Amino acid sequence: MFNIVIFGAPGSGKGTQSERLIDEYGLYHISTGEVLRDHIARGTELGKIADSFISQGQLIPDELMVNILEHELDSNPDTEKGVIFDGFPRTIPQAKALSKMLEGRNSKLHAVVGLEVEDSELMERLVKRGKDSGRSDDNPETITRRLEVYHNQTSPLRDFYMEEGTYHAIPGTGNVDDIFKTIKGSLDKVIELETAESSAL
Ligand code: AMP
Repeated sequence: MFNIVIFGAPGSGKGTQSERLIDEYGLYHISTGEVLRDHIARGTELGKIADSFISQGQLIPDELMVNILEHELDSNPDTEKGVIFDGFPRTIPQAKALSKMLEGRNSKLHAVVGLEVEDSELMERLVKRGKDSGRSDDNPETITRRLEVYHNQTSPLRDFYMEEGTYHAIPGTGNVDDIFKTIKGSLDKVIELETAESSAL
């Protein structure tokens, strides 16, 4: 089981790079944003709660979010092959909960891929995406809020994972294929190390 977090601000390219990671490593993809948007589209109770936060550019409370993630992990047998966590964790308590969840499943988080992009470029990308995404949170006012929330609540995770030794800083601008090559270079090294460690046991 190889578990990765794809980390970065809104608009940093997490979704695009996740697609390539799925193809390359055959991992199961959990995007918490997509899970929530699916609930909103189906009009579930959870969807109604989620919508009230998402449309304001705010994070869903940690306890609720952790329960949602745990449900996703347990209801999809394919997660046993390994998971790309996209959009989770977004706070330190969520990161701690993720470590616990993986530990409880005899696994761990192997790598955090941090896509690093300047705010001005993020804003430009998100406004462009908003023109055809139809997302209620891709308008300039909500985008500004989401970037603020990212800097206040989510970006401290960079240091958290740096200290843990799992963070891989990836410049997230330029050609999408080149960005992926850099990610793959980092992850292949992690896999090599893991394989060497487990065969030494
Ligand atoms: P995303 O598609 O990852 O940009 O997520 C869209 C929105 O869903 C975010 O702005 C949050 O309101 C909510 N959301 C997604 N993932 C999380 C999370 N891990 N914790 C709290 N809120 C989340």
